[in-house]
Amino acid sequence: MNIIQKKSPNFWAGRKGYRPEGVVIHIMDGTLVGTDSWFANPASLVSSHYGIGRTGEVHQYVKEEDTAWHAGRVDAAVWKLIKPNINPNLYTVGIEHEGKPDDVWTDAMKQSSAELIRDICQRWQIPIDRNHIVGHFEIFSKKPNCPASNKKIIDELVALAGGQQTSHPSQVEEGVRKIEEGLAQIKNSLK
Ligand SMILES: [Zn+2]
Repeated sequence: MNIIQKKSPNFWAGRKGYRPEGVVIHIMDGTLVGTDSWFANPASLVSSHYGIGRTGEVHQYVKEEDTAWHAGRVDAAVWKLIKPNINPNLYTVGIEHEGKPDDVWTDAMKQSSAELIRDICQRWQIPIDRNHIVGHFEIFSKKPNCPASNKKIIDELVALAGGQQTSHPSQVEEGVRKIEEGLAQIKNSLK
């Protein structure tokens, strides 16, 4: 996919022996342009690996091999795979999304996000499921609306990312499935 590089100075080189095991979904609570300049500012002390605009444009701020500063604070975490007393930044990849918590996400933004999630998960052998793709709020309860007021958006991204990862069933498999469906309908009608 087309990724525009926008290097941020806010990161640690490497991951102190950890590797990406999850993807954290965020909302910018602002614009892509604004986020570009915020992450470029050393004084902000924040960053993420990626940012996605409402047009589907993807920006990269930090390399996946390095540690971005997007989810370092832990408060009442409910994420199942959280590691006690380890900074979550060390073992996650962060993706920011343009807009405000109440915005409806554009299809273009969802598609880009799903494609990016799929690529990240393939690179690091991360399962594409709800345990590994998490909202920021699941790590830091004081950001209850990151990435969105509507929490279903994360399920949707997981479905989109996972759905396109599986190869399309062959025509034979599809034919067998239709025959089985037909047989089941016939059996049901005989009951
Ligand atoms: Zn966030």
